[in-house]
Amino acid sequence: MQEQTKILHSIPVDELTGAISTPIYQTSTFVQEAPGIHKGYDYARSNNPTRKVLEDLIAVLENGSNGYAFSSGLAAIDAVVKLLKSGDEIIAVDDIYGGAFRLFTHIYEKFGIKVNYVDTTDVNNVALAITANTKLIWIESPTNPTLKISDIATIAKIAKANSCWLCVDNTFASPAAQKPIDLGADIVVHSGTKYLAGHSDLIAGLVITKTAELGEKIKFIQNASGAILAPFDSWLTIRGIETLGLRIKQQSESAQRIAEFLNSQEIVNKVYYPGLPSHPNHAIAKQQLKYFGGVISFDLKIDDKDFATHIVSNTKYFKLAESLGGVKSLICLPCEMTHKSIPAITRYNTGVTDSLIRLSVGLENVEDLIEDLTTTIRSLSLKYSFTA
Ligand SMILES: *Cc1c(COP(=O)(O)O)cnc(C)c1O
Repeated sequence: MQEQTKILHSIPVDELTGAISTPIYQTSTFVQEAPGIHKGYDYARSNNPTRKVLEDLIAVLENGSNGYAFSSGLAAIDAVVKLLKSGDEIIAVDDIYGGAFRLFTHIYEKFGIKVNYVDTTDVNNVALAITANTKLIWIESPTNPTLKISDIATIAKIAKANSCWLCVDNTFASPAAQKPIDLGADIVVHSGTKYLAGHSDLIAGLVITKTAELGEKIKFIQNASGAILAPFDSWLTIRGIETLGLRIKQQSESAQRIAEFLNSQEIVNKVYYPGLPSHPNHAIAKQQLKYFGGVISFDLKIDDKDFATHIVSNTKYFKLAESLGGVKSLICLPCEMTHKSIPAITRYNTGVTDSLIRLSVGLENVEDLIEDLTTTIRSLSLKYSFTA
């Protein structure tokens, strides 16, 4: 069975009514026949049938054993960190998602969990950073916003050899493009807010484990800490996943064309897109990604925040907003938006210059999106009177 068929048909038909769309069980509790005798559901923090369908679906999608749905991507990340105890150490990718950095540094360091940030695109940096206390290796691939790619299979081997877990934040790739568990990862997390739900209409997070044993631990944390996904948002995420494969395919095709277009523009300095042969990690990207995804970043030859601001403020179809992965295209200026809290010097070291612009390519026709960028770049050159 091919993947799209498998996804659609692992969403069960409702046993009670035959409903082909998963019913939304909007309930807090379940009536029991006798104390402790029930149909597998007792209280909706512990378990909810709508959420269960999503959790089983995401496990299928990531080729994992168990899946769990949380109220946000950060709540999912938080649940994974709670596998650790005081004295344990994490090795994390250096340009990690800002919210994960904030959680690790400002919440978990005070509980005695140490995080060592390294450039994981060079696997030797990971091997060198391992200590006797390392329990978890944390990578994102591609990263945000410069789309760096780390070699998941090799890092998984390093993790295994040193008895620690590898967790991959697979938000940017999505399971339609990349399956970290197949490459050896122990845990996968998602901000379901982005590609999985795919319509910019909710906040959600997911954790998938390779083994049932690790799954039981996450389940315990999910119930004990309580940051579960609500039934309606679970339903919306299921509905989003039904079209994930089609969306990622189209968004990646459009993004490839837009990346090539930007590459040919006089005012553009550098285009960050794993599908371009000029991308420093293009070779490994080709190996581990089925699609290169819908996010592109680029900066300008003249590294000027006003020029970049002009572009992000004047596109018609690319709407100025944080987030990514939805059906409508978005544009943002990371130095002023998603990465504002990071000190300028650190930002520059990871390529987030004042003129770096991030695009999330949606499902509009690609010709319209290219025309939108062409018109905006032309208006910039007219305003500042130079030739674009
Ligand atoms: C958005 C995002 C998160 C956080 O997810 P929320 O749903 O916003 O809590 C984590 N990791 C990555 C890579 C993200 O893009």
